[in-house]
Amino acid sequence: MRVPFMDLSRMHDPLLPQLRQAMEEVIRRNAYILGDEVTQFEQAFAEYCEAAHCIGLDNGSSALELALRGWGIGDGDEVITAPNSFIASASGIAFTGATPVFVDIDPATYTLDTAQLEAAITPRTKAIVPVHLYGQPAHMDPIMALARKHGLKVLEDSCQAHGARYKGKRCGSLGHAAAFSFYPAKNLGCFGDGGALTTNDSELAERVRMLRNYGQRVKYEHVFLAYNRRLDTLQAAVLGVKLPHLDGWNASRRLAAKRYASLLRDSVQPPAVADYAEPVYHLYVVRCPNRDAVAAQLKEAGIDTGLHYPVPIHLQEAYRYLGLQAGAFPEAERACHEVLTLPMFPYMTDEEIEAVAAAVKQAVAQG
Ligand SMILES: *Cc1c(COP(=O)(O)O)cnc(C)c1O
Repeated sequence: MRVPFMDLSRMHDPLLPQLRQAMEEVIRRNAYILGDEVTQFEQAFAEYCEAAHCIGLDNGSSALELALRGWGIGDGDEVITAPNSFIASASGIAFTGATPVFVDIDPATYTLDTAQLEAAITPRTKAIVPVHLYGQPAHMDPIMALARKHGLKVLEDSCQAHGARYKGKRCGSLGHAAAFSFYPAKNLGCFGDGGALTTNDSELAERVRMLRNYGQRVKYEHVFLAYNRRLDTLQAAVLGVKLPHLDGWNASRRLAAKRYASLLRDSVQPPAVADYAEPVYHLYVVRCPNRDAVAAQLKEAGIDTGLHYPVPIHLQEAYRYLGLQAGAFPEAERACHEVLTLPMFPYMTDEEIEAVAAAVKQAVAQG
């Protein structure tokens, strides 16, 4: 049995008539830039995230960068994040001119090890960017306590955590702001690139609205240098149709995760769920020492897998200028060698989950 890494059609096919109608509506009105659908989606997504404001942007990377810029963070500043994320978590920091500073992870949850956080704070530190990796929230209470103590901003990298909860509260309103991506494969994705910033900070919201739109306060009055980083109206229309289904899709992912965990427990290490977390399983990541051999065998059995992520950010060529060596963050580096991402998407069938689990068991037994 062939099992794909993910299948977007299972979400989109039942919604095709509504999606087509929403897109046609935009085309009929020829309102492609910051049209009504953008405002409507921003309101709906802010409400969903339990945040006061949402600003639609062109992608998640922009959300990370513009939030930090909006707070005036830049040259000479330091911002702390995790080394085992998608590259954009650090790039959003680096693009402002600030220096990304990494802190190692808790090996059970793959999120920032809050016990090591305070030692990384210097007089230059301005913000912390915890990553809710794979859809599991970082341990936010100790992070927010340290931020209060040292006067730092906290920007959640929520790009993998649409709908996840921490102690009952949604990701997106746990820190001072949160960055979301609507890249097609995310838990909430559009038909191209898209992103958003959510926040309760009205001043930041206002500033990011200008940062996405040429620094414009009113038409042809440009207060500062800025880019064009807007969310397309067509993408907002798609997101508006999909958002009401997000909770159902996340529930379907959680069910698949539960089945996986019960089938895989004896052969690999399934994801740990912290007692504070209600994760949304953007990715279903298991851990095994002979990861590469297992991945190769699964491929032969027709099962697609992924690696998230095989190289930590501090060892990427792009970040060589930071001068960090292998061994700097041992838990993050070990995870890069041991993690394996199994197929995970809404409406996976029991047969598919069982086929993946059986193939994993066999591969591990032979490995
Ligand atoms: C996807 C992702 C991003 C970047 O989002 P884009 O929309 O691709 O720019 C940032 N951080 C994490 C953790 C992501 O998964």
